Amino acid sequence: MKKHVFFFGNGKSEGRPEMRSLLGGKGAGLAGMTNAKLPVPPGFTIATTACKLFFDNGFNFPQNIKNESVRALNKLQKLLGQKFGSITNPLFLSVRSGGLVSMPGMMDTILNLGMNDKTVEALARKSNNSKFAYDCYRRFIQMFGNVVMKVPKESFDGILDKQKKRRGITADSELGVEDLKKIVGQYKQVILKEKRQSLPQDPIKQLDMARDAVFYSWYNPRAKVYRRLNKIPENLGTAVNVQVMVFGNMGSDSGTGVGFTRNPSTGDKEFYGEFLMNAQGEDVVAGVRTPLPIAGLKKKMPKVYAQLKSITSNLERHYKDMQDFEFTIQNKILYMLQTRVAKRTGIAAVKLAVDMVKEGLITKEEAVSRVEPSQLDQFLHPVLGETKQFKVVAKGLPASPGAGVGRIVLTADEAVRQSKNNPVILVRAETTPDDIHGMESATGILTSRGGMTSHAAVVTRGMGKCCVVGCSNLEINTKSKVLKIGSCNLKEGDWVSLDGSSGRVFVGKVPVNSADLLNKELSKFMKWVDSFRKLKIRANADIPRDAKIARQFGAEGIGLCRTEHMFFSADRLPYMQEMIMSCKESTDAKKMAYYKKARLRSLSKLLPMQRKDFMGLFKAMRGLPVTIRLLDPPLHEFLPKREELMVEIASLEVKKGNIKKIISKKKLLEVINGLHELNPMLGMRGCRLGNIYPEITEMQARAIFEAACQCKKQGIRVFPEVMVPLAGDVRELKIQKEIIDRVAQDIFSQKKLNIKYLVGTMVELPAAALSASEIAKEADFFSFGTNDLTQTTFGLSRDDCGKIINAYLQNKVWQSDPFQVLDKKRVGRLVEIGTKEGRLGRSNLKVGICGEHGGDPASIEFFSKLGLNYVSCSAYRVPIARLASAQAELRRKQ
Ligand code: PEP
Ligand code: MG
Repeated sequence: MKKHVFFFGNGKSEGRPEMRSLLGGKGAGLAGMTNAKLPVPPGFTIATTACKLFFDNGFNFPQNIKNESVRALNKLQKLLGQKFGSITNPLFLSVRSGGLVSMPGMMDTILNLGMNDKTVEALARKSNNSKFAYDCYRRFIQMFGNVVMKVPKESFDGILDKQKKRRGITADSELGVEDLKKIVGQYKQVILKEKRQSLPQDPIKQLDMARDAVFYSWYNPRAKVYRRLNKIPENLGTAVNVQVMVFGNMGSDSGTGVGFTRNPSTGDKEFYGEFLMNAQGEDVVAGVRTPLPIAGLKKKMPKVYAQLKSITSNLERHYKDMQDFEFTIQNKILYMLQTRVAKRTGIAAVKLAVDMVKEGLITKEEAVSRVEPSQLDQFLHPVLGETKQFKVVAKGLPASPGAGVGRIVLTADEAVRQSKNNPVILVRAETTPDDIHGMESATGILTSRGGMTSHAAVVTRGMGKCCVVGCSNLEINTKSKVLKIGSCNLKEGDWVSLDGSSGRVFVGKVPVNSADLLNKELSKFMKWVDSFRKLKIRANADIPRDAKIARQFGAEGIGLCRTEHMFFSADRLPYMQEMIMSCKESTDAKKMAYYKKARLRSLSKLLPMQRKDFMGLFKAMRGLPVTIRLLDPPLHEFLPKREELMVEIASLEVKKGNIKKIISKKKLLEVINGLHELNPMLGMRGCRLGNIYPEITEMQARAIFEAACQCKKQGIRVFPEVMVPLAGDVRELKIQKEIIDRVAQDIFSQKKLNIKYLVGTMVELPAAALSASEIAKEADFFSFGTNDLTQTTFGLSRDDCGKIINAYLQNKVWQSDPFQVLDKKRVGRLVEIGTKEGRLGRSNLKVGICGEHGGDPASIEFFSKLGLNYVSCSAYRVPIARLASAQAELRRKQ
């Protein structure tokens, strides 16, 4: 028969510290400490398996586990010579939660269990301290009433506060025994009134109810949110630890506290924590009394302090990791209530890993495996500091990490203007390329629409700027310059703070902790990381500034330069628009020739600018591969919005405005109408553009190879990789490749130079993945565009999916956003087929990925398993990708 209850006490435990998934972190720690003969109050752990059975059984605790618990309780009573509920020598218990992964403060605890009208008197007699006994009783009723019987905490607080006021005192500890007796009576009345049942006096009933309440607390709202934020599986369940009570509120020689073996915020090697004399655990965290720094215990009780320090540093050595511990002192005797691996900031995680290798506690492999890739964010971006006193008004998708604190602006132009005086947060329904100047000026971006690969998300990640998207409870009124987030009304100029790592939006000015790029420990740590990984990491970068940042972060090349981003600046957009104005069709050959000539004229103006762009990139990357993608988006993106233009023309006509202006606007509208598509994402974009207007490809290829030749002449090594977007059929690629090769040969013979280059394609359509072996015959490399591949596989618009994804995540239709974490079953399968079949078509095919998944640790593990050559992600995610790929490699070796 399977065992579900594990006893510990008297130096022996039925469980072992390795049994964490069964005993939970706390239970495993208690078992380990008991076996190590540390002073642990005895008790028993009801395993996580019992929690799962409890839920599967329709919230009934299975009889066989009940029997096991009764046996464990009997054993405990025998060991101590005390009886639960006895009116002469009573035993009191604590009941605490504890899952596999620690979730501090998220689940419930009940202390002083076993208290009733009779045992309180017995405790008073035994301790010779009535005040202490009644203090325990009022604590028990309050905790049991709130946690188990669900009476609001405030109902109790009001009574306590009134009594203190009546007596003219401020601290709970100043209450006398008569006060406490009165409070106990009133507390019992509150329960009776609110619940129409009295506080159970039967200790066994109390124990059963407390145990079930701890199980239920696995599903309380804060625990659910915590699990979602920390990606903790829902089905783990919690264990319940039933332990003999030790009392820190027995008088001035008793106390309780919590601590860490090192500083969890900085990683510094210092004994760190807080304590309170004459108190129980909840007093330390509740904020009623201000706890003292743990160093103060040295003065008050030097022996206990020395014992605590020695025990906890032994625990750290034993577990080879920073410990977070809880202790109680009862009449000068120290008891350990908990030890577990401590939560830490990213900065502390790296420092600890490096220090512990230095101290010989762990290997470099262990050090690298221990730091969560996302924790590196804290070095790369400023992050929000203490948020406790700020209100969370909304939660959107965490599109780009970091902190964004500033005054609200609602237009890009306003962002530019206001940012001269104050940091600003640009709040939009969605961003478009037109907003780019405002995005540059803002410290953070908040949108109500869009998903993890929307324009706002992709662009801000590239900029390393905080962004929250898809915040569906956000309503913006740009005319009256006000906005509503949930029930909160705000206006332009109000302060908001964004947490780009969790998607939370706060009202007010939250303090910010700055980035720490030059951290010594980080560079040492990253050297170890690089020694373990095989996958190369490149960056998505469009301009030399981003390329330089990417190199600083350790990028080994550019995996995606989206050339369209180069055409949006004020000096280029007019030429681009001019070129588009002549992207017209006609049955008249003469007209067609005229249009083409006009296109060539505009393109020739763009050529020197593009050449300069590419030289900048080559120079920044100095010999590392630079993948330049030919123009990809639909042309209408470079033109004004159709509806806006129609309104403008109508109002010009009404006002009888300048006739010339009206005619030119109408011409523009005609072109826009000609380009209008119902589904532009599935229309005239990608290589289709270059195949229909080959002169665009020619100009871009010319700019690339002329830039490469100029760099080479200046002694700069270059390695261009020309990438054709959105090919789904080998012939689409073949036409483009012929143009690129022809232009390259032209320029090389003109310049009397030869430069090694590659021509490859993006695989971002199921059609491309499914014909990979054919396409590979024409491609030197593949780069999976998993943003479009996800969009086309699911038939789900990447720009409009925010609302759908939020709802699907909430309703558990999906476990994660497929635009954020690669969907392995379908999109991943296409990547697998594309890679395998592509390499059948060309054995030395280089394969990478440049969609947003290139910066996501779980997706990187998948790409690493498939044997891809590289992943490419935004510059600010490069260190995260380096660490994730090293960890994937280490896991594979295990
Ligand atoms: C992609 O589709 O994954 C990709 C990288 O291209 P873009 O995001 O520019 O469409
Ligand atoms: Mg794409």
